[in-house]
Amino acid sequence: IYGRNFGDIILQTIAADITQLAEESEGIGCRYNADGFFLYMAHHWNYEKPLERIQFHLSELLKETEIHVRMGICQGTFRSISIEQSFDRALYACNSLRENFTSAFAVYDEKMHEEEVRKARILSDFADAVEKRQFSVLYQPKYNIHGEFPVLSSLEALVSWSHPEFGKMRPDTFIPQFEKNGLIQKLDKYVWKEAACQMRKWKELHGTTIPVSVNVSRVDLHDPKIVDYLLQITKENDIDPSQFLLEITESAYIDDNNILVETVKKLREAGFKVEMDDFGSGYSSLNMLATLPIDAIKIDIGFIRKIIYDKKTMYLVNVIIGIAKEFGIPCIAEGVETKEQLDLLKNAGCEIVQGYYFSKPVSPEEISELRKKAIRQDI
Ligand code: C2E
Ligand code: CA
Ligand code: CA
Repeated sequence: IYGRNFGDIILQTIAADITQLAEESEGIGCRYNADGFFLYMAHHWNYEKPLERIQFHLSELLKETEIHVRMGICQGTFRSISIEQSFDRALYACNSLRENFTSAFAVYDEKMHEEEVRKARILSDFADAVEKRQFSVLYQPKYNIHGEFPVLSSLEALVSWSHPEFGKMRPDTFIPQFEKNGLIQKLDKYVWKEAACQMRKWKELHGTTIPVSVNVSRVDLHDPKIVDYLLQITKENDIDPSQFLLEITESAYIDDNNILVETVKKLREAGFKVEMDDFGSGYSSLNMLATLPIDAIKIDIGFIRKIIYDKKTMYLVNVIIGIAKEFGIPCIAEGVETKEQLDLLKNAGCEIVQGYYFSKPVSPEEISELRKKAIRQDI
């Protein structure tokens, strides 16, 4: 804000404190990068002291609210590791404080170590897991509740990982890791293909097709070949693209609207149906509705959790259902767990629901059983 020269003065002020702290403790201090400094010093427990000194000198230059100093600490309890690794760990602890404005320092501990090892394992085990078929695809039914009895209308494919060491893992524990480094594209293609093959198997078994939706990550939408790939797997499995639904999370739309809108248009021109997932969780919801052509709105689970006890949330859900009606597209509520939630949604005119109230995500075999039962009962 105050220009480059003033920025230099700030860095020099920090550097002077770091130098002094190093001298006092017979340690070594240096600048690491832009506004990062390293300090190697004798162990002591009062972490606040060095930080306070830096904060104090900075506040002479700036108002307190204008700067936030973070410090990550790696104590010498890991004697087996190199000095570089020690600093990497201190950095890891320091980065854990990003967006945390209540505490100024973090100590690298066993928990962080486990987390770091686990994250690294998740990434390095990916290739092996695909090869050994540790990823499986579960299906969660969505029901149409418009009529007197709920009718199975489609299924959502959700991935799950049976890790040899960590056991069954929920997608939330590994998908964010894969999204950061592009592996998600491989995983998604795998899931889409599995889902397409499964649809063919069900068609052979039951004679009819039930639409299946798959999750599409933001990264996937930047792949110029996505349309061709989806056309290829649906063709190979003799599936009409209109039966293959694509769930795109609303938060994907913040990135690069143009590319996204173009890709979604191409997907729809190819015959695929697009559902806007987690609707209402981002900040571009209404804006996106105006520019993006979509075939269904999925109300975010966060709303459904609150409708029972929060009138305002129920009011918003009514509004979302109303918008879907105006657009002539169905509205899907996810995460429905109780009869009360179901009744509220049904009364509000919500057409499709998904959630534990009806079923958890289950194996393809369980879906087959469910469909046989439905045929016998003629619903
Ligand atoms: P999502 O797309 O919003 O999927 C719905 C999540 O809500 C699923 O969690 C589902 O199991 C859970 N759920 C369904 N009904 C209920 C309910 O009644 N109560 C509660 N509390 N939860 C319910 P899951 O399987 O853990 O998946 C989490 C997220 O991981 C998904 O959220 C999706 O964003 C992502 N994901 C899952 N599979 C894939 C995939 O193959 N590719 C990509 N890119 N993302 C995936
Ligand atoms: Ca979804
Ligand atoms: Ca969702």
